[in-house]
Amino acid sequence: MGNARILIVEDNMDNYELVRIVLERAGYDVFLAVNGRDGVDAARAQKPDLILMDMGMPEMDGWKATQKLKSDEETKTIPLYALTAHTLPHERKRALEAGCDGYLSKPIHMKGFLNIVEEALLVEKIKKERMNNNNRDD
Ligand code: MN
Repeated sequence: MGNARILIVEDNMDNYELVRIVLERAGYDVFLAVNGRDGVDAARAQKPDLILMDMGMPEMDGWKATQKLKSDEETKTIPLYALTAHTLPHERKRALEAGCDGYLSKPIHMKGFLNIVEEALLVEKIKKERMNNNNRDD
């Protein structure tokens, strides 16, 4: 098994660089899409293990891109976390309503950030193992 692959959908390159460095140091493979539309295309093409989605973006914003990915059979099981400075309760609700599995607040705090990423990937791994075991039992 190779490194987990994480798609970052982010239009601000300073934010992206910071996230990229933190994740690469932790051993993840990271790739970038610079707006929601590219993010949807990249997720469909590359099937990442995790998507981190900025919300405010040109072309297509993160809410719309999340709705698209979460209503598409091909991509809806990929864990998707909002990467957002919008962390007031109604803003968190909005991200979850769009279909985000959770959210990470910006600016990122390294340890908390990595813990959530690790946990999101672990939950997905457990789900897959469970599915494989069930298939084997049939
Ligand atoms: Mn943005």
